[in-house]
Amino acid sequence: MAWSEAPALVDHHCHSVVAAELDDDALAGLLAESDRPPAPGTSRFDSALGLAVRRWCPPALGLPVHAPAAEYLARRRELGAPEATRRLLAAAGLDTCLVDTGLTAAAGCELLPLSELAEASGALVREVVRLESVAEAVPAGAADWPRAVGEALAAAATGAVAVKSVLAYRHGLAAPAERPARAAVVAAAGAWLHGGRGRLADPVLLHHLLWTAVDVCAELRLPLQLHTGFGDPDLTLHHADPSLLSGFVRAAEPSGVPLVLLHGYPYHRQAAWLAQAFPTVYTDLGLTASYTGPRVAAVLGEMLELAPFGKLLFSTDAYGLPELFLVGAAQFRHGLGALLADWRADGACSAADARHLARLIAADNARRLYAI
Ligand SMILES: [Zn+2]
Repeated sequence: MAWSEAPALVDHHCHSVVAAELDDDALAGLLAESDRPPAPGTSRFDSALGLAVRRWCPPALGLPVHAPAAEYLARRRELGAPEATRRLLAAAGLDTCLVDTGLTAAAGCELLPLSELAEASGALVREVVRLESVAEAVPAGAADWPRAVGEALAAAATGAVAVKSVLAYRHGLAAPAERPARAAVVAAAGAWLHGGRGRLADPVLLHHLLWTAVDVCAELRLPLQLHTGFGDPDLTLHHADPSLLSGFVRAAEPSGVPLVLLHGYPYHRQAAWLAQAFPTVYTDLGLTASYTGPRVAAVLGEMLELAPFGKLLFSTDAYGLPELFLVGAAQFRHGLGALLADWRADGACSAADARHLARLIAADNARRLYAI
């Protein structure tokens, strides 16, 4: 399928980028989910994602495809961060970006405000509010906390396009099907406030927040995004298997709130099944499509073994580096194009089927889901 016929991309999950000049180590450090050093004698470019960066990004800076990392970094410095950022974002060709504003810095540098990201990318930019960050900033006492977090989330989410939860990082996705009792929430809030209001990790409070998000999303008619699958070393991977959400998904189904399972890998097949089984569940391969480099078509194929075509959404999950917007978009276009070419060669679908499927995943599913 020729992507010239395909619609523009709606990136339904991403973060903003660093505007400041980064030194080479800081820049390469953003090419991994880990904040730990790479194997001795190698750099972060020695990876499937590193290959993808060297495949897609050098031409945007006037270098040949596969330019060595050192030449790429030197050219980037020569152009300066603002010009490199503008070129890389423009080359990504994104129509709309839905930006998770829960992270405000990368590699110790501030991220561009949304208005400046919109200007640099030429894309329409909308906000996704992060649930746990909103809750951690609520100034209420324990007795008022359950009500106050609901009010704070409703205020923060008004004008946003979705709410996102990082429950997977805090306690894991094995959320109970029942709402926690109010007395238990007040007691847990008291302990958390007494302990100095650090990072929210108490399961009772996290599960209360999850149900608060369901209520607020139902009221405002917004989807709820959930991190699933791989991420940084904070995560215990098997606790991020989205099938652990099954009880919660069933319990939240009557609310009608769409639950969007982000990333997924290596549990993207579980996510695909959930999306097939439950009308409220949607899924995504952002991050995975970038990180799997030359294997992107295979991984997209695994996702589409079960995920209904109206349930998978494109994203870049770019964070910190403008390169990751271009890599995410290029990997998706290339990977889906290669997969659909295989399907067509095999007689599995027509050219019209391939175009329809690509349009759904690239933009139409997101436009319908987020009402944009
Ligand atoms: Zn993400």
